[in-house]
Amino acid sequence: MSVDRTLRHVKAIITGAKYLFSGPRMTIMYPDEIEDLPDGYRGMIEYDWNTCIKCSLCAMICPADAIKMYISKEESEKEKKTVKRPGINYARCIFCGFCVDICPTNSLKFSKIHDIAYYTYDEHVLPPEKFAEGIKPMYKGRKVRAILDERRGIKYEPVD
Ligand code: SF4
Ligand code: SF4
Repeated sequence: MSVDRTLRHVKAIITGAKYLFSGPRMTIMYPDEIEDLPDGYRGMIEYDWNTCIKCSLCAMICPADAIKMYISKEESEKEKKTVKRPGINYARCIFCGFCVDICPTNSLKFSKIHDIAYYTYDEHVLPPEKFAEGIKPMYKGRKVRAILDERRGIKYEPVD
């Protein structure tokens, strides 16, 4: 290895060590700290049972096959015809927003939740009834927000 390359390696190591021991950190202490996400953040999709008109547009537009129409047994029996509602597979969703954009009744919305973990693949698949129950954050850590730090780039401060 040339002297020049060695010196550059040493310089890189010194730079890394300098930032390792000097605050503020650019990482947050998740899950004790949770980032306060901005409006418009594309988290896991939520579904409003009451406003949905069962048009199927969301299932048709979804490029990842994450949304599918499921037969709603109770409603089908009541209305004496096949009634379908959307369910979601969170493992397939790519957060593109096509379903949110196309829904004529705003029944689908992005939440700010992105970090729900499931034990099995099947648990990611929510039929309409479960989809409509909504999702809750797994952790309730202290909220922090990212701010620009001239020296480090980004740092986090608590949200009041
Ligand atoms: S955000 Fe995109 S991938 Fe996810 S369910 Fe909607 S259309 Fe499908
Ligand atoms: S969620 Fe919206 S797009 Fe999907 S079936 Fe219901 S009304 Fe139609």
